[in-house]
Amino acid sequence: MDNYRILVLEDEQDIRDLISFQLKAEGHHVTAVDSADKAISLLEKGEKYHLMLVDWMLPGTLSGLEFTRKIRQHRDYKEIPVIMVTALTQPDDVVAGLDAGADDYITKPFDLDVLQARVRVQLRANYTQLGAQSTPGNLIVKDILRIDTAKCRVSVSEQEVQLTSTEYKIIVTLAQKPGHVFTRTQLISQIQGENIHVTGRTLDTHIAGLRKKLAEGGQLVETIRG
Ligand code: CA
Repeated sequence: MDNYRILVLEDEQDIRDLISFQLKAEGHHVTAVDSADKAISLLEKGEKYHLMLVDWMLPGTLSGLEFTRKIRQHRDYKEIPVIMVTALTQPDDVVAGLDAGADDYITKPFDLDVLQARVRVQLRANYTQLGAQSTPGNLIVKDILRIDTAKCRVSVSEQEVQLTSTEYKIIVTLAQKPGHVFTRTQLISQIQGENIHVTGRTLDTHIAGLRKKLAEGGQLVETIRG
C-alpha cells in the first residue's frame, strides 16, 4: 500500500501516541494534534490529508463531532474520509457520529489491528484508483503534471493546459497507472466513447497533440515501439 498523509485528532496523549506509532509503522505520514482548532489551522494552512482519525470528546471550542460536521460542509475538505474514534459506545452515539459525516466509527477501547484494518478500508475505498502519487480531492500529481479529475483540469508547472476530451482521457488513463505500458488497443478501448471514435492512426495523432500541449510535461508520455 502507498504511503498516505493522516491527521490524528486526539486529546489523550497515550492514545494519540499509540495510534500515531501504529500508522507510522504502516508507512504513513502522521500528524497528530490535540484540538480541533489546531487541526483546522493546519487545514487552513493548506496541509493535505488523505484521512483523518477524530476523537469525539475534545477540549476546546469544537468537539470531534462538531469538527466532523464542519469539515463535511467545507468546500475544500468535505471529501476527506473521517474515522471517528470514541469512548461513546451507545447506538445513538454511533448514529450521531455517522450522521455528522464520519465514514466509520470505532469505539474505545479498540484493537489496534482492527483500527489499522479500518484505516486500510477507507484508503482503499477512496484512493486505489489513483496509481500516481495521490492527493486528496481527486488529484493526480506526477512531477510537474497535475490532473484534477473532479474539475477535469490539467496543468503543467502550474500552467493550465487546454485539452480536447480525447487528449484528456488519454492523459488520465496513462497517469492512473504510471510506468504501465498500454497497447494501442487498450488505450483505444479506454478512451472510446459515445462521441469519440478512435483508430490506431488517429490515436497517434491525439498523443502527438497531447505531447505538444503538455510541452515540458510531454516527456512524461513515453512511446514504446512495438
Ligand atoms: Ca478525548
